[in-house]
Amino acid sequence: MRDFQQLIDGKTIAAMSGEWLDSIDPSTGEVWARIPRSNGADVDAAVDAAARAFPGWWALPTLQRGAHLRAVAEVMDQHTRELAELETRDNGRIVNETLLGDLPACVQMFFFFAGAADKIHGDTVQLSPASFNFTRREPFGVVGVVIPWNAPLSLMAAKVGAALAAGNTVVVKAAEQAACSVLRWAELLADAGLPAGVVNVIAGLGEEAGDALVRHPGIGRLTFTGSSETARIIQSRGADRIRPLHVELGGKSPNVVFADADLDLAAAGVSTAAIFTGGAGQTCVAGSRILIEDVVFDDVVDRLRGIAANVNLGDPQDPATTMGPIVSAEQLDRVRGFVAGAPSDGAELVLGGRVGGDALFPADSPFVGGYWVEPTLFRVTNQQARICREEVFGPVAVCMPFSSDDEAVALANDTNYGLGAGVWTSNLKRAHRMVRDINAGSVWVNSYRRIHWALPFGGFGDSGYGKDSGWESILENTRIKTSWIDLS
Ligand code: NAD
Repeated sequence: MRDFQQLIDGKTIAAMSGEWLDSIDPSTGEVWARIPRSNGADVDAAVDAAARAFPGWWALPTLQRGAHLRAVAEVMDQHTRELAELETRDNGRIVNETLLGDLPACVQMFFFFAGAADKIHGDTVQLSPASFNFTRREPFGVVGVVIPWNAPLSLMAAKVGAALAAGNTVVVKAAEQAACSVLRWAELLADAGLPAGVVNVIAGLGEEAGDALVRHPGIGRLTFTGSSETARIIQSRGADRIRPLHVELGGKSPNVVFADADLDLAAAGVSTAAIFTGGAGQTCVAGSRILIEDVVFDDVVDRLRGIAANVNLGDPQDPATTMGPIVSAEQLDRVRGFVAGAPSDGAELVLGGRVGGDALFPADSPFVGGYWVEPTLFRVTNQQARICREEVFGPVAVCMPFSSDDEAVALANDTNYGLGAGVWTSNLKRAHRMVRDINAGSVWVNSYRRIHWALPFGGFGDSGYGKDSGWESILENTRIKTSWIDLS
């Protein structure tokens, strides 16, 4: 059993109440660590520390701000294996994804934002010789950062890097299901020489610590990644506050396979995009609605069956494992409900369907008490079923045939969400038309879930507004001041 602490004002400390929350290894269902049950008092202290640190951080020459961010990247780089293994233990996502994907990307994100710190600038606007008009880009002060459990370090890095580069200080609230990797990262900041209070990290429950943070009057900007339901609560609770809010939410993303596509590539891409990922489909951009041109429908589904047969569920720390567990018992129950309810909604089971460690592992396996779901695919004939409209957040997808480009676009857009979309085709004009016509914040062609720190990422509709990553994320962490100097 290991205890992790919060970081407030440069000190690693337990929750002020002295209370802890258990962190559970989702592959076994056993408690493996404790995190602080932060509450309003911890939030007050963290926001105060960030507010005190803000003037000094904002006054630093931008090259020095960049140098601090580079030091954060370097320290993270020295601890990639430790951080990846912690995150895998905590949320169950396979180590091949955390170690080879997320951690190197986090390091690069901090380098990217380090390089951006001295390139933020306003504009001059020429109106007449009688005045000098210009804009300045200034930080908000303290940025509140609320993140979910499915990719804690990556989501933290994108938000914290952009906020700090722009001159803000931050208070990060990690998710109660998987906070350990971010709490350990916070401890490492002392080695990076970051001034105390510039970054503060708390844990705790959403309705307790999270709620206190989003209501706190000292927060100048709030950036949230999580579910649309929580975003609605946060928006309503913040209704009496005039303050920018950025929300990155879930999705029900379409993945459209045309008959002219390279079908091997498409089947591999569609499967890793949706149901056979190391994170067991627990990604916001899961391409969980697979739309397949009717003439190749059976062919593509057969290929998906073949790929599913080779999925290797097991120890997430083992590089040979290709899919991990679901994050929590609560989430497992939710997935079970979707799978059990789908047939009565008219969905036909095509592959998979077993839910629970006891259904998938022998009685003497260490994983029998874990939260497991096998890759599962349903065929549907319309998109009214609940499983077509709501985010499952598990290795569960639906597939459905279409017969024309117009029908493909109509089906793809038949959702309140708009986060990501995939298009598989060898026809360039068709690819461009799909990018133009599909209503989503990211449209991938002959690829899926390609996310890069230099590219803005964010959704439309119920998937949220605003961007993480890219230059846009830095600009969104600034506010514009306009000046008119009279020269007459
Ligand atoms: P969640 O909304 O339950 O929780 C997210 C965070 O909000 C956690 O830190 C939680 O403690 C906090 N929280 C919960 N209730 C709160 C409240 N009342 N006030 C303040 N904070 C509160 O989401 P989750 O289950 O942790 O994560 C899964 C969701 O996140 C999915 O919907 C997924 O699609 C989404 N997600 C989106 C992206 C993206 O970039 N668009 C990325 C990853 C995950």
